[in-house]
Amino acid sequence: MGEENAFAVLAKAAELTRQGRDIINLGIGQPDFKTPPHIVEAAVKALRDGEHGYTDATGIQPLREAVAADLHRRLKVEASPDDVLIVPGGKVTMFMAILMFGDKGADIVYPDPGFPIYRSMIEFTGARPVPLQVREENGFAFSAEETLKLMTPETRLVILNSPANPTGGVTPGEEIDKLVAGLARWPNAAILSDEIYGQLTYDGLAHRSLLAYPEIRDRLILLDGWSKTYAMTGWRLGYSLWPKPWREIARKLAVNSYSCVNAATQFAGIAALNGPQDSVETMRAEFDRRRKAVTAGLNRLPGVRAVTPKGAFYAFPNIAATGWKAKPLASALLQDAGVAVIGGPDFGVHGEGYLRLSYANSLENIKRALERMQDFLSRPARAAASL
Ligand code: PLP
Repeated sequence: MGEENAFAVLAKAAELTRQGRDIINLGIGQPDFKTPPHIVEAAVKALRDGEHGYTDATGIQPLREAVAADLHRRLKVEASPDDVLIVPGGKVTMFMAILMFGDKGADIVYPDPGFPIYRSMIEFTGARPVPLQVREENGFAFSAEETLKLMTPETRLVILNSPANPTGGVTPGEEIDKLVAGLARWPNAAILSDEIYGQLTYDGLAHRSLLAYPEIRDRLILLDGWSKTYAMTGWRLGYSLWPKPWREIARKLAVNSYSCVNAATQFAGIAALNGPQDSVETMRAEFDRRRKAVTAGLNRLPGVRAVTPKGAFYAFPNIAATGWKAKPLASALLQDAGVAVIGGPDFGVHGEGYLRLSYANSLENIKRALERMQDFLSRPARAAASL
């Protein structure tokens, strides 16, 4: 089993801060906003009202209904509350899905660079990890053709993620059309679509959900949740949609592990989906401003070039021309420049030559971080140190 190095960098940055260093953290992928107050109040009310017990393992009915209504409102798709499973965070869905389909002799296709837990869990199950390279020249969108080329009769699961971590790539609708058409040739492969950043797209780009394709609904698992959209990473609240027989297995996994999600948190989840959505747009608009600032700033740094991310809140600059390898550069930036970022190889073999910067930090801090990086990369001694 692997890890998520973003948590190690967070711990290291916190340690340096404790020692009195001024560290700007562009490492961890979580919104720097507080959860909107009406959502917090709903949880407080639930606690005061005595919602202190276990709930149904699949989640409370009004929350599952709110999820189905939200999917209808946003994506115009029909979903039954009975297909929804409420889980403690987005990650739990990938844990369950990979456990279900991963086994010796099975292949699982996953994006690289991609969220590190995909590969970690695939290896844990004994399945063969089959990396699908997402490329800078495609704006880090995945290619339908390349995905289909990786499919074999052994492919049990294909993992897709758009908008994507760590690259900010968004795959265009036409490419998804092509992929879904090609998947008809592989009816035994399940699909896990990680759409946790679905409401964070820019430049007027609409999110294309895999749920929009009825022909794959009987083998599609949707991963989504509240962490990023409503600034709720610490609440641990997510949901998934499953074809019926698989949801029954997922329910059993829930009963055998965490029983149910914290009851008050589920009431907060209802308030988030059914309440006013203006905070979602306010956050998105602020991320958009920062996205433009970070991309422009990165492209001014010596030896650095960055494509403009179309979604999520990450930039994934190419740093190959600095002469540094990605992980030593990330360490040196933390130690010497006080800027926490993540080395691309923490997201897969195809991440070498890149850094991930989360722009879920204030515009002022982003500007200070870019100045520090400019200063660091301009020092002649640095270039020598990298050799
Ligand atoms: N999927 C992707 C692509 C992510 O980036 C993350 C978190 O960073 C998750 C899933 C997990 O979300 P959660 O914090 O709700 O478990």
